[in-house]
Formats: sequence, C-alpha cells, structure tokens
Amino acid sequence: MQHALEQLAIVMVHTSHPGNIGSAARAMKTMGLHDLRLVCPTRFNSPETRALASGADDILEQAQHFDTLPAALADRQRVIGTSARAERSLRWPQMNARQCGEFVVSQSPPQKTAIVFGRERTGLTNKELEYCQSLVHIPMAFDFFSLNIAAAIQIVCYECMMSARTQIPAEAGPAPDTRQEPAATTENLESFYQHLEQALIDVRYLDPDNPRLLMRRLRRLFGRTLLSQSEINILRGMLSAFQGRKFTSRSS
Ligand code: SAH
Repeated sequence: MQHALEQLAIVMVHTSHPGNIGSAARAMKTMGLHDLRLVCPTRFNSPETRALASGADDILEQAQHFDTLPAALADRQRVIGTSARAERSLRWPQMNARQCGEFVVSQSPPQKTAIVFGRERTGLTNKELEYCQSLVHIPMAFDFFSLNIAAAIQIVCYECMMSARTQIPAEAGPAPDTRQEPAATTENLESFYQHLEQALIDVRYLDPDNPRLLMRRLRRLFGRTLLSQSEINILRGMLSAFQGRKFTSRSS
C-alpha cells in the first residue's frame, strides 16, 4: 500500500557527517520514500552530501530543517525511535526492522509516522527517546557493534517497502481503528504531557525535586494507545477540572 510510505518521514538528529545525509537520501529514494527531516546537522551542503546522494538530489532539496526534535515531529501521529543497543533501562516496546515495516504499513487508517535516527557516535538521548512510542533495533551478529546510520536507514526503509508490497488484504490484517477521529500529533501529546505533569505537581502527586521515572512511565502508558485529538481534549478537560480551571482546546 503506497499510502503508508507516503506518510512516513525519516528524521536524522544531529548528524555530523554530511556524507551520511547523502547516503540516507539515496537509501530513501531507492525504497520509494521522500520525506527527510534534519534536526541540526553539523554540516549539510557539502560536495560529499551530493556525491553520496548519487541522484537523490530531490530528496536533499526537499529535506526540511528543524532546530529541535519536537518541532520536526510536531505533525506526526506515531514516532518510532531507533537504537543500536537492544536494551534500555526502562524498556520501550521493541521491534526488529521487519516488525517495524509491518507495523508502519499495517496502521489502519495510515498514520503520519516518523522513524528517528540518532547521532553517529552517541545515538539518541533518553530525553529524545521520550518522544517515541516504540523502538526499532536491527539485530546484529555482535552486540558491541553498531551499523552505519545510512545502512540502518536503508534496512528500515527496505523493510517498510517490502511490507507495503506484500501487504496482506485489509480484511486479514489488524482490526482497523474505527473511531474515525484523527490521532493526536506529537504537538498535541507534548502539550498534554506538560499539562499532566503540572497537574500532578499541583496535586502534590509528583515531586518536581524528585520526579523519578513517573513521567516516563506515563508516557509509555499513553504511548501504548493511539489517543485521538478529541480524547486528548477530554483528558485535558479532566486535568483542568482537577486543577479547578477551565480547559478549552484552544487554551493549550
Ligand atoms: N554508540 C551509539 C551508536 C549510534 S549508531 C549507540 O549506542 O547508540 C547511529 C545511529 O544509527 C543510531 O542512533 C541508530 O539511529 C542507527 N543504528 C545503528 N545501528 C542500529 C541498529 N542495530 N538498529 C537500529 N538502528 C541502528
């Protein structure tokens, strides 16, 4: 199903080698993806970028630039992080690249999805992973190794394309989301999490001096469900009521 690939963005965070951006553009183009988003690359427009893009110049030209990761994700309804390591302390639901391709393509209706790739040396920070609802780890022969970032992008894009090509008929796939309401975007979700955190502080459930992992756990909880925009409005209305305030969807 072509539609799912059209809704898929590849986000590269703080990429330091311009050649990797060119190789990533080529990897995307060969697999039929076009939405590349760059968050603060160290260098972008170098001869190396163009050389390694090798004909995927249109992807580079259309690539959008952002100062922060939440800005790059603002319109996204599903965000998948990538990790060179199989384990993180507080685990996000984890997929391999094949499962990721199946997940992206099987969303019914298709959701605006982003797959986020980290820095060459250090990957994504825990703070950045908090914007993600799940993680992809491509299994490797040795745990102490990592893939080149463009190679990781190639594998993930390949799996998404293959999944789109071989997609099972809709009636045999997962039950479609019948709510007929748009799913919340990262922007909606981040406003909700800020509101939730403040409300929990107001009622003294959350100690800002000792927050522990509460917000991360709550993000994981809500991340398991595809909240719609109107469900977010209900939750925020409830939070405002607990706070003794009035919430309208425009008051965020
Ligand atoms: N030492 C870093 C390695 C980062 S590799 C770390 O442990 O995080 C740079 C980026 O390439 C990663 O952030 C991820 O986006 C991608 N990548 C590399 N190997 C990967 C793998 N096996 N699975 C998924 N993504 C991988």
